[in-house]
Amino acid sequence: MLTSIIGFPRVGNLRELKFATEKYFKHQISQERLQTVAKEIREKQWRLLKENGIDLIPSNDFSFYDTLLDSAALFNIIPSRYKELNLSDLDTYFAMSRGYQGDHGDVRALAMKKWFNTNYHYMVPEIEDDTEIKLTGTKLFDEFHEALHLGILTKPVITGPFTLLKLIRYTGEKQLPDFVEPMIHAYEDLISKAQGTEISWIQFDEPYLVHDLSSDDIALFKKIYTLLLAKKGILKVLVQTYFGDVRDIYHELTSLDFDGIGLDFIEGKETKSLIKKEGFPKNKLLFVGIVNGKNIWKNHYGDSLATITWLKNSEISTVINTSCSLLHVPYTLKNETKLDADYTKHFAFAEEKLEELNELKILSDLDSYETHPAFIKNLELFSSKRKNSYDPEVSKRVSEITDQDFTRLPDFFEREKIQKDVFKLPLLSTTTIGSFPQTLDVKTNRSAFRKGEISESEYVDFNRKKIAECVKLQEEIGLDVLVHGEYERNDMVEYFGQQLNGYLFTEKAWVQSYGTRCVKPPIIWGDVSRPEPMTVSWSVYAQSLTDHPMKGMLTGPVTILNWSFPREDISVKESTYQIALAIRDEVLDLEANGIHIIQIDEAALREKLPLRKSDWYCEYLDWAIPAFRLVHSKVKPETQIHTHMCYSEFTDIIPAIDDMDADVITFEASRSDLLILDSLKENHFKTEVGPGVYDIHSPRVPSVEEIKTALNKMLDKIEIEKLWVNPDCGLKTRGNEETTASLKNLVAAAKELREVK
Ligand code: GLN
Ligand code: ZN
Repeated sequence: MLTSIIGFPRVGNLRELKFATEKYFKHQISQERLQTVAKEIREKQWRLLKENGIDLIPSNDFSFYDTLLDSAALFNIIPSRYKELNLSDLDTYFAMSRGYQGDHGDVRALAMKKWFNTNYHYMVPEIEDDTEIKLTGTKLFDEFHEALHLGILTKPVITGPFTLLKLIRYTGEKQLPDFVEPMIHAYEDLISKAQGTEISWIQFDEPYLVHDLSSDDIALFKKIYTLLLAKKGILKVLVQTYFGDVRDIYHELTSLDFDGIGLDFIEGKETKSLIKKEGFPKNKLLFVGIVNGKNIWKNHYGDSLATITWLKNSEISTVINTSCSLLHVPYTLKNETKLDADYTKHFAFAEEKLEELNELKILSDLDSYETHPAFIKNLELFSSKRKNSYDPEVSKRVSEITDQDFTRLPDFFEREKIQKDVFKLPLLSTTTIGSFPQTLDVKTNRSAFRKGEISESEYVDFNRKKIAECVKLQEEIGLDVLVHGEYERNDMVEYFGQQLNGYLFTEKAWVQSYGTRCVKPPIIWGDVSRPEPMTVSWSVYAQSLTDHPMKGMLTGPVTILNWSFPREDISVKESTYQIALAIRDEVLDLEANGIHIIQIDEAALREKLPLRKSDWYCEYLDWAIPAFRLVHSKVKPETQIHTHMCYSEFTDIIPAIDDMDADVITFEASRSDLLILDSLKENHFKTEVGPGVYDIHSPRVPSVEEIKTALNKMLDKIEIEKLWVNPDCGLKTRGNEETTASLKNLVAAAKELREVK
């Protein structure tokens, strides 16, 4: 039996790549230095995998920003606006990733999108009519040889042509079908080049196959791989899928000439039944994705070995694999020094998952594994009761929820009238999404307090000073609805988790969210409740400084759940309702303390939308939307509830979003086309909207004209009475200078339009 992994966290054990890259962006280190750091990270990773007995070690899973973008760049899929900057290859790549504003020109970044049902974001490559798809890059080969040089034979990993074609954006007249032939040729080239090397296995990632597929999709996939696999010679090709099962294409997939097929046994609900029903070819290796690449709980050996044994008995040759890339879990539990072993013994991060793969390999090679100490230890772990995990009060509260808890009264239109009367805000009201730049002083203050270097009152005083400055700045800029700036928060979920019962925290368990940005998802360990108010004092203080409405700022239950590592012993619905009741307590406390506008962010609501349409409602929206309503159903009619989402791809679930019954929704729109607006109109979307007028993921300052153009486009589709003006997300990752400049332009644009409308 062999073991394999799909990919490994690439920012490094202690986010070394992030820090080096950010220094490079600030011109503090040279490109050579950055390359050296990257090389060290790769070497460390390969050696770690080797030491842990992984047989098929990936390479080219490393990336300076995003592997999908790497795959596009490898094949010369680089829009001309970036090429025309005439920068070095790496800087051109970074220009695509984060935009460029400097001596060489001024271009925006490529769009960024959620990667399937994860909290990772990929860059959306663009193909123009005259894009020539051809193998021009060497990254895949360079990294393979780099590992080989260290004596480690790796399995290069690359996005498969089908998934690449499906995820690319076609910006000209030509569409996907026009690029199939060149794409096939480019991959043929890759294969033939690989044949001239020591490469034995190559992995093509085709996660797109876990979606609902049309007959055209299936035909396309067959066409591509029939041609490609005819050229493979002695090269072994693994097609790797993840994030679900491949029910629409299982038959075709297993009939093609692949040497290995990677299937997901964790999220692939139907993977086992597909194999049972249709069988699996004896001449291929099945890469059994059985160690969860997305969650941090230890693998249940009994269950995994039962599956492996069943496959063995069915005479299927297997490789033990993770369910998806380990990119989605933190690097190692070894960095966690503060968590009690009673907790950590239940967890496995990326490095520990390697040990699990290895143990599963050892156990499955035994005739009877039941008496092996590793198996017994694992069995005992799962049969013991977890400490501090159950709270009868919480389960009682959840069981007592009734229909009224999901219904806010009076209805939206009535409330809208009442609120227009109460707040008397101008047309095209301006606001921000909540956070202001988390500059070094802000982070230093928080970390000094955390380390006990300053007293609580010093910590609070500093934040109050920042809040006061922030309020003053917003007043000067001329914004209508203000925020306190979120200086007390490291991140929108951890901050709440830390104050809720039932949560556990890590010190260094970072997971890449996009590019150089990482998040540290907390762990839902047990039943969740709120012991005391969490945000009230900050918001009340901020409101005391201004006559403008101050938005209270909370994170919604679905997002808190989706950005945490969830429990596996109760349903996610149950966990989310527990969180919703805790956040409801906070909403009502804010209201009682004079906060009249409360924003409940659901930045990650769409993230966990099942990849298959047929599952959308029954598996998710049917409880996720009510969970949001549960949070605000008890507020007064004159309290305005905002929500915010970090994306605009909700065209297909507009009724569900409207059904959240918020009064205002702000969302990301500046990086995507504004097609969403047509759909809002068609669906008679009632909620007031603030589609982001500029992109905050890049330091670029939008001009007044640019913002006016965006707003005018919006006004074509949205009644002026319903339109808000705001950036597309929080400003925490930005610097002060660009923030002030951008917001001034935003307010100027809104004011100019108010005049003429
Ligand atoms: N209120 C949060 C902020 O402004 C929202 C962040 C987000 O949507 N990701 O930072
Ligand atoms: Zn956002």
